[in-house]
Amino acid sequence: MALYDYRCGCGSEFEARFPIGQAPSSLPCPCGKGMGKRILRTPPVIFRPEGWDRSPEDPDYWKGLVEAEAEKLSKPKILKQQETRV
Ligand SMILES: [Zn+2]
Repeated sequence: MALYDYRCGCGSEFEARFPIGQAPSSLPCPCGKGMGKRILRTPPVIFRPEGWDRSPEDPDYWKGLVEAEAEKLSKPKILKQQETRV
C-alpha cells in the first residue's frame, strides 16, 4: 500500500491509501462538492534499471521494477567473458 495525495478544486488536499499502481487519478473530495485530482510525487527511493522509460502511471512500471531487481539478484552480471580457442 502506498499513500497518495489528492487536491480538489475547493483548495483542500487529502490523502488515501491504495495498493501501488492502483490509485485512481481522481477521488471524491471530503468537501462533497468536487473531485480531488491525484498529485503525482516521485517516490523517495526508486530503483530504475537502465533504459527503463515507463511512466509511474503504467501499472507494469512497478511490476517491471520488481522483476528487474529480482533478475539482478539472481543473475550476476558477466563483465567480461573469456573466449576459449581450440
Ligand atoms: Zn473539495
